[in-house]
Amino acid sequence: MTDNNLGATGMYRSLVPLGEHHLPPLPYTYHALEPLISEKTLRIHHDRHHLSYVEGLNKAELKLMEARQSGNYAEIKHWQRELAFHASGHILHSIFWTIMTPISVGQPGAETRRQLDKAFGGFIPFQEQFTEAAIQVEASGWAILAWNPAWGRLETLTAEKHQNLTAWGSIPILVVDVWEHAYYLDYQNRRADFVRAWWSLVNWEEVECRLFAAMQADVSISSCAAL
Ligand code: FE
Repeated sequence: MTDNNLGATGMYRSLVPLGEHHLPPLPYTYHALEPLISEKTLRIHHDRHHLSYVEGLNKAELKLMEARQSGNYAEIKHWQRELAFHASGHILHSIFWTIMTPISVGQPGAETRRQLDKAFGGFIPFQEQFTEAAIQVEASGWAILAWNPAWGRLETLTAEKHQNLTAWGSIPILVVDVWEHAYYLDYQNRRADFVRAWWSLVNWEEVECRLFAAMQADVSISSCAAL
């Protein structure tokens, strides 16, 4: 069950009660991204891996609620780690499904291109940096294009697992999953082939929409009172 919550910007935002996160459905069929991502990979990735993050997040939230109620914080470190791991996994996968499409136009939208020009000197330099960052993530992780409201521009980030190396305050708008479960059945150990092929699935309209939404965030490193 969801509730509405008036955010700081005056916009209504969805509020998820503790322990009530749900697995979002894919915005396309399981075989829609073939041959670049197989039906089998997508079924396992979405129905098993993403679901486990949703379940893990719900469990961590409820365990932390129990700890608050009982006053027993003996396992607080464990459940805070579980919360960070599963929440990050749930959020990043939710974005990952929506920023892919079987009918990609192959080019960023006008504002995305303008912001890529400003931050990276163009789409191609950005794409090369993002691709290399994804290929070189150690072990499992993500490459992320994020809007950083503190300095008003885009930046690329990488995450080892989900929650390490994060930059608080950045808003991810384009993410690629480079955990082996995202590509191993289709590409085995050839992560570079997966990342390069993945570009042709990007849903640039969704990226543009996420960028506009992120740019509305009134977050700053200066004092809140100065806003
Ligand atoms: Fe994944």
